[in-house]
Amino acid sequence: TYVITEACVDVKDKACVDECPVDCIYEGERALYIHPDECVDCGACEPVCPVEAIYYEDDLPGRLAGYRAVNTEFFAEL
Ligand code: SF4
Repeated sequence: TYVITEACVDVKDKACVDECPVDCIYEGERALYIHPDECVDCGACEPVCPVEAIYYEDDLPGRLAGYRAVNTEFFAEL
C-alpha cells in the first residue's frame, strides 16, 4: 500500500484523489488517508502530490514510518 504522511496535514491538496483509479483515498479532519486494503499499489498518486507526502510503504523514510499505522488506524476508527 501507499501511505500519506505528515506533509498532508492541514494541506489536503487532493490532487491524489483525482488520480486514484479505485477511489481509496479518504478525507479526514486534517489529512487524507489511503485505505491499505483497497490500494492497488498503482503509484499514480505519489508523483502528483505537491507536498510529496505520499510514499510506497517500503520506501517510507524512518522518521515517517509511523504513518503506515496512522493510515491503518484511521480506517479502524470508522
Ligand atoms: Fe490509489 Fe494507486 Fe495511490 Fe493506491 S497507489 S492510493 S490505488 S492512486
